[in-house]
Amino acid sequence: MRENDYIPTILIVDDMAANIAILSDLLQSSYKIKIAKNGQRALDIARGKEKPDLILLDIEMPQMSGYEVCKKLKDSSDTKNIPVIFVTAKNDTTDEEYGLKLGAIDYIKKPFHPAIIKIRVRNHINLKLKSDKLEELSMCDSLTGIPNRRYFDETLEKKHKEISRDKKNLAIIMVDIDFFKLYNDNYGHWKGDECLAKVATTLRKTLKRPTDTVSRYGGEEFVILLKDIDKDGAKRVAESLVNAIAELKIPHEYSPVTNFVTISAGIAIKEENESISKEDLLKIADDELYRAKESGRNRFCAEF
Ligand code: GH3
Ligand code: MG
Ligand code: MG
Ligand code: MG
Repeated sequence: MRENDYIPTILIVDDMAANIAILSDLLQSSYKIKIAKNGQRALDIARGKEKPDLILLDIEMPQMSGYEVCKKLKDSSDTKNIPVIFVTAKNDTTDEEYGLKLGAIDYIKKPFHPAIIKIRVRNHINLKLKSDKLEELSMCDSLTGIPNRRYFDETLEKKHKEISRDKKNLAIIMVDIDFFKLYNDNYGHWKGDECLAKVATTLRKTLKRPTDTVSRYGGEEFVILLKDIDKDGAKRVAESLVNAIAELKIPHEYSPVTNFVTISAGIAIKEENESISKEDLLKIADDELYRAKESGRNRFCAEF
């Protein structure tokens, strides 16, 4: 979640230092400014970890034109949501139409009026922040505050591609609360909700690496994605999750396993050179979870 005092970043792309200076002087009091003097550098920044919230893009640049940069940004799911405004001396309406057709959100002709640039930038930034917020909300489970199924599906798709390309491992841990129907039936649905939120928070806190994610898969099921981890590592994580929930000691006197809320987990792993589809990985994790349930619950199972 972004903080309220978040300062948006604007990437200014222009081959002329003087143009960059004018725009950054104008905007630096309200925004973080990044600069690129050519198209390739602009793409590198946009594809990086800290993405700009808006790009002011010159058109006429040697090597790669602004049009080409815009097309590349809009062609990739990683960068297509960054709004692009062309700021250019090309003031023909055909150029403007072409730029907008490429996916730019606005087209500002030079010479420009500084106050107007400021207002347009502010308006586009406000829209961008609102759409980021909506995107974030649409990926968040409102009961537990952790990412939801939609987030998981998209992340699995992305990570599965990444690891196939980078030859890394990917592990999935499926988690399900034991005898949760009995918990609800005896303590009430409201208490059940409270318990779900507690379990979700604890799973999240127990994961050590910032790239490990836990999402609510549905009902009382959670799913954990671990990139770049070996079999023993995945087992250690599953064990720590099972233990962490047991150690919460949330009373569940109707559970046939213990007097506390517990979880069961199933692990699947795709090692670097194996080719397993993401659907098969999920199926394996689910089968292992079923095995953990069958063999007594409050434990994890893995076929390795
Ligand atoms: P098992 O150990 O085999 O997993 O048994 P279980 O009782 O946990 O499994 P079952 O699938 O029979 O029941 C799952 C329960 O989870 C039933 C449903 O009411 C409850 N549940 C699912 N989503 C929510 C929710 O959002 N809030 C609450 N309070 N309960 C939920
Ligand atoms: Mg230029
Ligand atoms: Mg279930
Ligand atoms: Mg259950």
